[in-house]
Amino acid sequence: MTTAPRLFRATGDGRRETNAATVLRTVLDHGPVARRAIAERSGLSQAAVSRQCTDLVQLGLVRELPEPGGGGNGVGRPQIPVDLHTGESDGPLVAGLHIGVPSSTFGLLDLRGRLLDRRAFPHDGLAPGDLPSKIVQGLRAFLDGAPRGRRLLGVGAALGGWVDPGTGTAVRHASLGWSGRPLAAELARGLGDVEVRVDNHARAVAQSEILFGRPEARRSLVHLFIGNVVDAALGITGVVHQGPGSGAGDVAHLPVPDSTVVCPCGRSGCLEATVSNTALARTAVRRSIVPWPDAFLVVDAAAAGDRRADRLLRERARAVGRAAALLLDVLNPDLVVVTEHASLVNPEYLEEIRGAAVDHSHVCRDPERIVSPHAGTAVLPVAAGAVVLNPLFRSPLAASVR
Ligand SMILES: [Zn+2]
Repeated sequence: MTTAPRLFRATGDGRRETNAATVLRTVLDHGPVARRAIAERSGLSQAAVSRQCTDLVQLGLVRELPEPGGGGNGVGRPQIPVDLHTGESDGPLVAGLHIGVPSSTFGLLDLRGRLLDRRAFPHDGLAPGDLPSKIVQGLRAFLDGAPRGRRLLGVGAALGGWVDPGTGTAVRHASLGWSGRPLAAELARGLGDVEVRVDNHARAVAQSEILFGRPEARRSLVHLFIGNVVDAALGITGVVHQGPGSGAGDVAHLPVPDSTVVCPCGRSGCLEATVSNTALARTAVRRSIVPWPDAFLVVDAAAAGDRRADRLLRERARAVGRAAALLLDVLNPDLVVVTEHASLVNPEYLEEIRGAAVDHSHVCRDPERIVSPHAGTAVLPVAAGAVVLNPLFRSPLAASVR
């Protein structure tokens, strides 16, 4: 695999950039699609579509497909269908890196956000200070196995906690003990001459839903992430909200009625302390459902027919549903996307979340507004890739090629 030197550079022509982004998104939504149909769907002139398609083909983001019926020399003609360049031998790729605790995940995606390869990278016991350099080693080895001839456009990294994508900094990550860590710069230095972008993983999933998920996600969505950390993200008209210092989405200490679990913040009944994987695993050990605290073992036990594990997962799902109800009432989004492992594996737990949300919400009567991420159990590596794909779709001409 080769790497593109800098994916994003300044461009002085705003309208051209906007038009190119419109064309690229129309191709994403409707490709393969003829230029003439792109013009009809987007409202751009045929000439503008033609010009932008030429640019996007030159950038390697779009390619012309053979003319239907096998017409010969029709290159550039309005009826020739174009599509995102996802060719197996030379279509460009992005890498996604989800930094979790105690394990991270590498992924390789094409321009449609399809996960072509993934690899788990466990790092239990590694000093958090050494983690970026170890991740770089692991990721380099993973990328060495990527197909030759496909350009790597960039690396997107997603992680929990407070992340500032503007500066590429992990502002605060409690379980890794990171504070003000210049993560994007560290990763870029180790990976060589490649664009690296970082973001909070709840926002990354929201970005990925806006690009590749249900059409309603582009109107408005709230994403609720339930893992070892619990956080959220808000997207309105296709833009994920960051807020001052990119601090938006901290729902860890939202109150859960009826919960008496003590939170490290000193209060009791906080959302993260009640529903996180850590909390679930602790309760499971206390109830002798699993031998040691591992949330994934609880999900496995329920799948194997353990009723106590199933009951515990339903309890958590209902608490998550109550939190979803609160977010629905405050923000009234078209969609609430919930990333929670049990409901990704077994849709019955999504139904439990939906039931509790509708029971407790004062504005939402439609359970279908609460959904799992479109990528299912591949949600995290796909979301990490979206950290670099989303800005690419917003400003495609700012991409440069070698
Ligand atoms: Zn708290």
